[in-house]
Amino acid sequence: MAFLEVRNVCKTYQMGEVTVEAVNRMDFDVEQGEFVVVVGPSGSGKTTLLNMIGGMDTVTSGTIVLDGSDVSAYSPREATLYRRYDIGFVFQFYNLVQNLNALENVELASQICKDPLPAAETLQAVGLGHRMENFPGQLSGGEQQRVAIARALAKNPKLLLCDEPTGALDYKTGKAILKLLQKTCYDSGKCVMVITHNAALEAIADRIIRIREGRVDAVELQESPMDADLLEW
Ligand code: ADP
Ligand code: MG
Repeated sequence: MAFLEVRNVCKTYQMGEVTVEAVNRMDFDVEQGEFVVVVGPSGSGKTTLLNMIGGMDTVTSGTIVLDGSDVSAYSPREATLYRRYDIGFVFQFYNLVQNLNALENVELASQICKDPLPAAETLQAVGLGHRMENFPGQLSGGEQQRVAIARALAKNPKLLLCDEPTGALDYKTGKAILKLLQKTCYDSGKCVMVITHNAALEAIADRIIRIREGRVDAVELQESPMDADLLEW
């Protein structure tokens, strides 16, 4: 059994008279420890897919099994615990609490977890040991995203889900964040999924999942993915 199994998953949204098929019979596996890039154009269903994997949205049909548990069958209460304990989230716009400093932002997440990593050490690991007392407004975009990554990692989750994590960053800062995510994956042995519209990011993936119009177009494995340092677009 694969670490993550997505089986025949559909998601439809009813908008008045119109039915939107955001995800249409998606099917793929992901193995433990992989750095996965889910790539597709805007509107192709990437965020919808990630929200279902992360327990933020329910499937219309199909199943999602993570580490042997059927996530798609969870009750709302079970989904809350799953989001809290099992999944780390990283978003495009960081979503930090503005009136808490970097350390407090990370502690906030680790406090609700069963087996958290020490907040200060996690911030050090993302290169922010010297900025722990700064508020989000005093940090650059790249630094704020590092805090968000530390916050996700401090939960010691089974899976790290990143939705366009470099979407709001300049080229150089974006590359540094990708390098951090790739390194995190390799050092921790945890599975990291990055979703993006930027096909250049395929080069750094162990597994590429190409999405088009709500469907999986292709899945590709790469024996020796590129170091994120060397990536260019
Ligand atoms: P992507 O992340 O690849 O840009 P999304 O998953 O956000 O794509 O969206 C896929 C499709 O589903 C789009 O057509 C979008 O408008 C639609 N969609 C997403 N979320 C909702 C929602 N809550 N209600 C209605 N339609 C939605
Ligand atoms: Mg999206």
